[in-house]
Amino acid sequence: MSHGSFNAYKMAQEQFTNIANKLGLDQATIDLLNNTEREFSFNIPIRMDDGTYKVFRGFRVHHNDARGPCKGGIRFHPQETVDTVRALSMWMTWKTAVVDIPLGGGKGGVICDPQNLSSHEQEQICRGWVRQMARMVGPIQDVPAPDVLTTGQHMIWMLDEYEKMTGMKYPGFITGKPVGMGGSLGRTEATGYGVIYTLREALDQIGLDINKTTASVQGFGNVAKYAIELYTEMGGKVIAVSSWNHVEQRAYTFKKETGIAFQDLESITNKFGEVDVEKAKQNGYEVLDGSAWIEQNVDILIPAALENQINKETVIKIQDKVKLIVEGANGPTTPEADEVINAKGILCIPDFLANAGGVTCSYFEQVQNNTNYYWPKEEVIEKLDKKMTDAYKAVAHVAHGKGLSMRDAAYVISIQRVVEACKMRGWV
Ligand code: GLU
Repeated sequence: MSHGSFNAYKMAQEQFTNIANKLGLDQATIDLLNNTEREFSFNIPIRMDDGTYKVFRGFRVHHNDARGPCKGGIRFHPQETVDTVRALSMWMTWKTAVVDIPLGGGKGGVICDPQNLSSHEQEQICRGWVRQMARMVGPIQDVPAPDVLTTGQHMIWMLDEYEKMTGMKYPGFITGKPVGMGGSLGRTEATGYGVIYTLREALDQIGLDINKTTASVQGFGNVAKYAIELYTEMGGKVIAVSSWNHVEQRAYTFKKETGIAFQDLESITNKFGEVDVEKAKQNGYEVLDGSAWIEQNVDILIPAALENQINKETVIKIQDKVKLIVEGANGPTTPEADEVINAKGILCIPDFLANAGGVTCSYFEQVQNNTNYYWPKEEVIEKLDKKMTDAYKAVAHVAHGKGLSMRDAAYVISIQRVVEACKMRGWV
């Protein structure tokens, strides 16, 4: 999304080149991975409910598919930009590589505001997106999924359009489908749970008892909700949650020192995950400005909303008590803020590791689709926990051995895996 001068793609490229130089990669390999493999940008013309026509802009970017079909979500957002989609596709390449699943990196988007569109209009956008992309997506080329402001319902409309066009059933065309429609049990919870599996490992590493920790969370979308649920279940206490209010176009932080029960906050949110401010006050929450989540005196910060939230301006607000940052969102921390965080000795679990649970479960969903055999939830969750724990340990091992931050160590592992695949294919 566009936020003034912030450019997510430049940030993703800066992160990559920093490690590419440390690894001494050759110029051709740098050029290959510092740019996207292919990009699509297209019109989606829609007949609106009032009979008028409107044209939306859609994108799909394939960053790299050396390790397998491209994989990544589709975002619907009024401030979507092609550069953000490029950055996110790049981060997907590193994400699938760090958890070692046989997929590449892609991302899609549509500049639109689903909160101001009817269900029928959203359906037309989904179908239009698929009609434009049908030749370049599919179970063996590129597999989309939900992301910011897209849901299982959007995935089903997209799947239906693809199956109508091809005349065949392809449940593995897209992931994040509703359960019973080819979706996997546990997929909804997977990203948030994955965040907490990495958090659990990090606490173990630094010797902190989860029962004695407190956290502040930015966001109350799908990732944040399930992260809060599992963290609380494991004994942690969330004392602040910041959530976007669409009507007022601003965020609020909801604070309760005694701890926030996920269901309590959930019970006063609308279908877009927005908390009702008045009801929150009645339910005993202190209502603060949206930016207050970062300045809480807690052990753990979980940014689980959008990119560019911990930056040069906001990083200075982080309290000395904070020991851990777990990135549920993609790209929440800028490289400048990263330096401050590292200098302060805060352990930061980087986005493409911390939030890889979603795509990992998407991969499980594909496996189940391809075999047409569906696993019980416990099996999905157990496999997810193992994948996330193994990935965390591998990154921590490299970080420790080479004296790197967790982010740089995760980059080292992912880049090496992707480079190896590109070289074996004879691309560079
Ligand atoms: N959109 C999610 C992400 O950023 C999931 C992607 C997927 O499941 O393919 O990781």
